[in-house]
Amino acid sequence: MDRRSFIKLTAITGTSATLASCGNPENQLIRFVPDEDIVPGVAIWKPGVCPLCQAGCGLTVRVMEADADVVRNGQAGVVRIAAAKKLEGAPGHPVNHGGLCARGQSAIQITYHPDRITQPLKRAGDRGQGRYEAISWENALAEVVSKLDALEGNQRAVAAVTQGGRGHRAAVLRQFLARFGAPGPITFDLFGDEVLRRANGLSFGREQLPTFDLANTRFVLSFGADFLGTWNSPVSQNVGYGLMRQGRPGIRGAFAQVESRMSQTGASADEWVPVRPGTEGVLALGIANVIVAGQRRPASGAGRAGTLIDGWSGGLAGYAPAEVEKITGVPTARVERLARQFADARPAVAIVGGPALAHSNSLFTALAVNALNALVGAVDQPGGMSFMPQLDVAAALKAGGAGGAPAPRLGQFAADVLSGASAAQVLLVDGTNPVFTTPPAWRVREAFEKIPYIVSFSSFLDETTALADLILPDHSFLESWTEAIPESGAMDAVASVAPPAMRPLYQTRATPDVLLEIARTLRVPLELPWQTFDEMLGASFAALPSSTPDVDAWTDAQGKGVWSGTLPGGLAVPAAAAGSSAPAAFAEPQFDGPADQYPFHFLPYPSNQFLDGSLAHLPWLQEMPDPLTSAMWSSWVEINPASAEKLGIAQGDVVEVASAHGTVQAAAILSPGIAPDLIAMPAGQGHRTFTRYASGRGVNPVDLLGPVTEATTGALAWAATRVRVARVGPPDGRLILFAGGMREHVEEELR
Ligand code: SF4
Repeated sequence: MDRRSFIKLTAITGTSATLASCGNPENQLIRFVPDEDIVPGVAIWKPGVCPLCQAGCGLTVRVMEADADVVRNGQAGVVRIAAAKKLEGAPGHPVNHGGLCARGQSAIQITYHPDRITQPLKRAGDRGQGRYEAISWENALAEVVSKLDALEGNQRAVAAVTQGGRGHRAAVLRQFLARFGAPGPITFDLFGDEVLRRANGLSFGREQLPTFDLANTRFVLSFGADFLGTWNSPVSQNVGYGLMRQGRPGIRGAFAQVESRMSQTGASADEWVPVRPGTEGVLALGIANVIVAGQRRPASGAGRAGTLIDGWSGGLAGYAPAEVEKITGVPTARVERLARQFADARPAVAIVGGPALAHSNSLFTALAVNALNALVGAVDQPGGMSFMPQLDVAAALKAGGAGGAPAPRLGQFAADVLSGASAAQVLLVDGTNPVFTTPPAWRVREAFEKIPYIVSFSSFLDETTALADLILPDHSFLESWTEAIPESGAMDAVASVAPPAMRPLYQTRATPDVLLEIARTLRVPLELPWQTFDEMLGASFAALPSSTPDVDAWTDAQGKGVWSGTLPGGLAVPAAAAGSSAPAAFAEPQFDGPADQYPFHFLPYPSNQFLDGSLAHLPWLQEMPDPLTSAMWSSWVEINPASAEKLGIAQGDVVEVASAHGTVQAAAILSPGIAPDLIAMPAGQGHRTFTRYASGRGVNPVDLLGPVTEATTGALAWAATRVRVARVGPPDGRLILFAGGMREHVEEELR
């Protein structure tokens, strides 16, 4: 008997011991084979939904017969299963049209990750030590229920921190908290788009991210948005961008990128326009000034969006190109030329996002770019921007709004816990790692350590989950019902949904189902109308019209992985009421740290591989070279060559970057695509606890961030910290480049 057969037999025998009532071993093996016929060597394709960012791209999952290590009823072994082997973009999906980014390709590694949490765990050591012992689901759920029951009369002592989102999963948590009597979920996304949503609500009555019709535009003017790499709906935008450049015979759309550090998107632009951080809105209004003064468009054409800008009706006299040059650093002649190009290329569209909206004055910046779009007639027009109709999940479910008390901001919540103003007793953590992604001044770790009982639904032991008293691991997205309501990327409304593509490998449970079970089991059960998550999904999709006469929308959507079409009246999220805010005027951006001690602006940007660090545990992404530097498996500091020369820093030297809040060391990469007064670092590395692939690797630039917030919205201004930089030593091998040049050089020196 070979080893493989022996293991298989062991698994069957082990299962026999625990499932004696199920008959002979052959039948027990069949329990692990999915219902459909899997022919050895023949693939079947199932729908899926990429869970890695808000874009909600559709997947097709290649499923084949395979042997897999699984745990069943406490027994580990190898059994024959139908296993997901490969992910591709779903060809007919209205957002990604068959495309899938490298991150989406790597999502398969979540399911088979060797450090996945495979069963419920109870803390066995001090908080943060990472010592846990196994606990059964029954005992784990009983413990959570008893903690919640013990709060009777003090329902507001429950808090939840989550990624947020507009879909059904988020709705389960909102409904759970509201019916329990707790405040709504606290959401935090380091590189989130809260400022732009607010601005779009004020300018256009839509508190959501826009969709850009790039395929039909002639000129794109992007203010900071890495829309081909990490921002908004990158796959959808790449598809449109490809058509803009090459999809129309004889027409090649032009593209200028305004930013102070060249992003992956900026590297594709015809023109890169460096600008002083926090002054992007001034440039937008300078362009508007030239357009109005040259009578290329009347100022009144901007409608509601224009009235939100101070001085708009007077032709923006304070934003003449010469004045704009003084503030932004962009030469007068260039402002005038960009304005002519933007106004004369019809249709044209402006995009704003990323670092441009990560300053203390960013609402002004977003409103300025919105007004510019309105001025040139880009709103709701072909080749311009528009807003996807959004399914109102609560309306589809007839569940009513979740109601309940509003959630505080995460920074405020942490401060309240530390001061005693919040008496949070139980904290639920789902799909987010704020201990890693928040500035040190918020003291989130300290605050969480004060909360008596923390439950995490994470599949991995990250920095926040390591503080949990109980871990109730979620299924992977391939093992459970998944769904998404994309916020942008298509013209029609879209709701993605997919049944499990494979059976669970381990003793995990889908988090929405766990919440529904807890809700039923409480001493005073919460009146949630669904037993399971798929029942909830079915109820929601049943409210949608079917695109085919012979099959209902729910059945159709399960087969295709998506519903798309026109929402019936009452099921669309209504437009926001007109904003009543005072007209916005430029205010100098505020920065953390005095300029004489910290002479550089600091830009921590979303990594192309890891975004905010939540994907650093996936080895394919660690292995993937950064598109601009070719660096992999490491952190680096980008600095302009002229600035580096003044500081005696050479390529690959180890440098120390310090702010008023912390210090990190990493290798320097000299880049001409960065302003001389700027230092940039990718986010994502620097985990203390996040699987064998990410732990102890590189440094976290968030450790340097000051607690500056956007003045109106209160969103974290993550590009508003100043730093100093100094050489510490020569290259020491910590920087790993795909090209290998620097590393080989170091290794040669070490030999
Ligand atoms: S953009 Fe990439 S990571 Fe985001 S949902 Fe689409 S495939 Fe997934």
